[in-house]
Amino acid sequence: MLSVVRTVQGDIDPSQLGPTDSHEHLFFVTPLQPGDEFADVDRAIEEAQTLVDAGARTMVDWTPLDLGRDPQGLLRVSEATGLQVVAATGVHRDAHYPADHPLRAETADALARRFVADIEGPGVRSGVIKIGASYHRLQPFEQKAFAAAVEAHQRTGVPLCVHTEHGTMGLGIVEHLRRLGVAPGSVILAHLDRNPDPVEHGETGASGAWLQLDGPGRAKYWPDSTVLQLISDLADRGLSKQLLLGGDTGRSSMMRAYGGGPGLDYVFARFKPRLERELGRELSQLIFVENPARAFAFDPRFNSGCPR
Ligand SMILES: [Zn+2]
Repeated sequence: MLSVVRTVQGDIDPSQLGPTDSHEHLFFVTPLQPGDEFADVDRAIEEAQTLVDAGARTMVDWTPLDLGRDPQGLLRVSEATGLQVVAATGVHRDAHYPADHPLRAETADALARRFVADIEGPGVRSGVIKIGASYHRLQPFEQKAFAAAVEAHQRTGVPLCVHTEHGTMGLGIVEHLRRLGVAPGSVILAHLDRNPDPVEHGETGASGAWLQLDGPGRAKYWPDSTVLQLISDLADRGLSKQLLLGGDTGRSSMMRAYGGGPGLDYVFARFKPRLERELGRELSQLIFVENPARAFAFDPRFNSGCPR
């Protein structure tokens, strides 16, 4: 099986991914965060360069449709910095879209066609499909988005990247997607460290789904020590080969180029060295290199309009 990771500059062999930040945003605009928007390409280049300087080779951008998603902007960042960038298509959880937003009126089939077009081109291609769940439940718009994402996944093979609200419903999401025909190995669950419970996520991980933590530097929720302890506990449960890590910089106030902090490079410049000191380089190599190379890889055999 020939698998690839789809970056904004084209498909690459998964072994070329290198040290990877599995969840970030270079552009994000949502009515949920007034005053915290960021959509400037030059400042994105400035931030991305700090991530490269801190040792990252690849970054996955999780910004979905109509929330500032800018594939051309990501391409410019990638060309200016050499950072390999994976773009997302898909939609976020319900609350990010106003009641009269046109995406809400689309059928699941229409959404799926839109996702597939973003993945297969023409133009800058996306390499993951983002979907979102609400706190402990899936709202009707989210259920439609899940159905559309499954259809697009089955046609293209790209992985599904799922926002969990406060780390809830991980196993419920995996089971819902499995009933719709998606293997847990194609499901990446974000923000699980918002609910730093190793037993809960251990049960989810037993399904084979990817467990992503992305709270380093978010001291207003938990100190980094809590995130490290969760990583350690999940590794002890045999899940070290399913862990992914990102910084999830979703606000301009988190970017130094916009006058905020701790900056896009925090995960690589600060958290990764600490993880290596406290939990060892072997685990770091899995979380930052080997796991992303498997999680974001897919077999593109269904592309270019081939029937399933
Ligand atoms: Zn995010």
